[in-house]
Amino acid sequence: MKKIVRTLFVCATALLAVSCSNEPKVKNIIFLIGDGMGLAQVSGVSLINNWEPLAMERAEYIGLQKSYSANNRVTDSAASGTALATGHKTYNSAIGVDVDKNPVPSTRELAQAAGYATGVVATYSVTNATPASFVAHEETRYAEDNIALDYLEADIDLFIGGGTRFFMERRDGRNLAEELKAKGFTVATDMAELDGVTEGKVAALLAPNAMPTIGQGRSKDYLPGATAKALEILSNNSKKGFFVMIEGSQIDGGGHDNNMVKIYEETVDFDNAVKVAFDFADTHPGTLVVVTADHETGGLSLVSGKTDFTLPEQGVKYEFGTTGHSATWLPIYAYGEGAEEFSGVMENTDIAKKMQKLLGLVE
Ligand SMILES: [Zn+2]
Repeated sequence: MKKIVRTLFVCATALLAVSCSNEPKVKNIIFLIGDGMGLAQVSGVSLINNWEPLAMERAEYIGLQKSYSANNRVTDSAASGTALATGHKTYNSAIGVDVDKNPVPSTRELAQAAGYATGVVATYSVTNATPASFVAHEETRYAEDNIALDYLEADIDLFIGGGTRFFMERRDGRNLAEELKAKGFTVATDMAELDGVTEGKVAALLAPNAMPTIGQGRSKDYLPGATAKALEILSNNSKKGFFVMIEGSQIDGGGHDNNMVKIYEETVDFDNAVKVAFDFADTHPGTLVVVTADHETGGLSLVSGKTDFTLPEQGVKYEFGTTGHSATWLPIYAYGEGAEEFSGVMENTDIAKKMQKLLGLVE
């Protein structure tokens, strides 16, 4: 009944339209997750850059989300990844399963089944917790050989990140790269191999496990370039639209290492991918971009003091409260069609539920 009323409303408001439609207004969703990126990480980058605006600051609507998991006030990337991917709170280390270990579908899977093109992009292995939560269903995040098999069996257009170890050097001796090729995938081990590729199924596996950090020499072109390539291929793969998750995976490692330089470099890199996504939304009506984190890492605080690694004259320094994760609320930056849905305070699970609604995947 609700649907009929909405359809009538759309028809009534589109008086001169040739035909009435209940097609969702949101055509494409670009979901960017900064792993370990709390508000202090974003604030720290802003401060180091002398308050030069970040791409994230172009957001039209800002929200806050609560990241706690079903069994811990402090989540890990698996439980929060699953919450952001599926709309279900679960236990730490769960990948795409609920508290009873039953598989629960991700927005990406629901979108693919409804005719959208879908993919994931990361700077860590694609089998790592965050991207895995959008593709796989495993009781534990540590079953990475199994998660790679889930990729092989998944209906998915594109995945880009590390992970050759779990696809090509497996304990069972299978070569999943060959099996992906047999299923019609273009398999690349270097981004340059994708230069001429503009459509079709693509698996790019660019490192044994994690890709190098920026500090270790990962190209600053990689994440923004992989984002642009993913948007190009997914746009061409389905007229209906696409859903893609793009992770700045290694901000988290900077927090675990209590390394502010690493946090800075990885957050700036992630923000460059955010810029690509916002620019795409500017030229592709019907595109929603949502930027958030899975949790904060390091318990980072920016406190007054005499020492700082870039701005000593301002007497601002940083301190870490932990080498683990923390429970602070996380920022949400939303841009484009449907962005207004993401203002206010919400659960991490609400983000998945809102995306599913906006794409017309659930009532
Ligand atoms: Zn972590």
